[in-house]
Amino acid sequence: MSRINVVGSGLVGSLLSIYLVKKGHQVNIYERRPDMRKNRISAGRSINLALSDRGWRGLQGVGIADEIRKVALPMSGRMIHSIEGQVGYQPYGKEGQAINSVSRGGLNCVLMDLAEKNGVNIEFNQRCSKIDLNDALLTVEDSESNKSKTLESDFIIGTDGAYSAARLQLQLNTDRFNYSQSFLEHGYKELTIPAVNGEYAMDPKGLHIWPRGTYMLIALPNLDKSFTCTLFFPFEGENSFEALDTISKARAFFEKIFGDALKLMPDFDKEYAGNPVSSLMTVKCFPWHYKDKLLLIGDAAHAIVPFYGQGMNCGFEDCVVFEELMTKYGNNWTAIFEKFEQLRKPDGDAIADLAVANFVEMRDKVGQAEFLLQKKIEASFSTKHPDKWIPLYTMVTYSPQIRYSEALHEGKRQEKIMQQVMALPGIEQKWESKEVEEFILKLL
Ligand code: FAD
Repeated sequence: MSRINVVGSGLVGSLLSIYLVKKGHQVNIYERRPDMRKNRISAGRSINLALSDRGWRGLQGVGIADEIRKVALPMSGRMIHSIEGQVGYQPYGKEGQAINSVSRGGLNCVLMDLAEKNGVNIEFNQRCSKIDLNDALLTVEDSESNKSKTLESDFIIGTDGAYSAARLQLQLNTDRFNYSQSFLEHGYKELTIPAVNGEYAMDPKGLHIWPRGTYMLIALPNLDKSFTCTLFFPFEGENSFEALDTISKARAFFEKIFGDALKLMPDFDKEYAGNPVSSLMTVKCFPWHYKDKLLLIGDAAHAIVPFYGQGMNCGFEDCVVFEELMTKYGNNWTAIFEKFEQLRKPDGDAIADLAVANFVEMRDKVGQAEFLLQKKIEASFSTKHPDKWIPLYTMVTYSPQIRYSEALHEGKRQEKIMQQVMALPGIEQKWESKEVEEFILKLL
């Protein structure tokens, strides 16, 4: 049995701690925020995340996938809103395949409940301020009393998210720690489409997208029949948060560009003025561990932008891989930490790059006829030759047996082939023909 201190009881820290106690370890989590379960109504509302197969595997491993499925809203495709207000549907995969909208706060509460039920001790209002790496000493400050304490353990796991304090300790105190953070020129603001007469104002079976070239609005359904919308928009420039600096300018812009959405937003003025603009960042770093004393997992090790809907899914997959390594290597933590980062670093990097690339696809390409044709050709070929071609989105979202790094590699190969296919004269007419099928087979 090892004594483990975990920093952060977010989605990944809470799930990981359940895996750790189930292996017989003693786990304490120190969380900076107050206990969100004391205000469950607000914790369960509003902000939602897309949960897909890699995430489900993580939840299945601790036996709560069925419970979460009951409160998850399946979204089987994209609902694309044109500027004129027409809505087109593009399936995400085959019949029966869907990503799922779940409440971030609600899921976090269930995970913390289960962690405590299994014997994890969670202390709130405890901000990690320092780690003594060689002795695994964790210093936390109590935000209510302002007192700090230093805690001993066999090792520490940092699951404290994109702005990780645990990671900072590696940056400050170890030699040759690689670190990069890159911000997008876009930020995001959340808005709401509430229920109308107790019903969804739009079809809840899809992820709604208003692709507008260099920016976009998206909406995911919530259980209370509302939608959480997110505007991904440049910070600066002609069309930007900076330029829309008054409610009347923002309203006029929305009327012109997102007219059908604005009609469903009765609280637009208040929300646009009051909700913050947040930034979007990719973090890559290495190594993820220090001896057998500290390990980073989840966003702390690999924060990514949200355009593939994979940040949490990737963090949950981290937990599954970590559990497999505990099964294989027992209490040999040095071996576990080394193997873990060896296995997961290429996958963290791959999904980070895929997520950045998918922003262009979501905000721009999904509205273009050529892109839709390409997707139709890929889907048709994949149906005929499922052993030879799995579309990239399917590999990332519905195929946890395929590593992110493999999906990235295969996706690049497919894209090269598709560029040649799309350049065939008359492809618009003959895309379903034997000739095109043979052409792809030859290129594979
Ligand atoms: P977090 O959830 O950030 O949890 C970290 C925890 O550590 C928090 O509780 C925090 O309070 C605590 N903490 C921080 N610092 C300290 C400290 N010094 N001391 C103690 N505690 C500390 N992912 C998906 O899979 N699907 C999606 O659809 C999706 N959509 C997203 C949309 C947006 C706009 C954003 C920003 C992200 C989205 N993500 C999505 C990513 C997802 O939110 C993250 O990948 C996920 O939350 C990572 O979990 P985590 O536990 O590693 O970090």
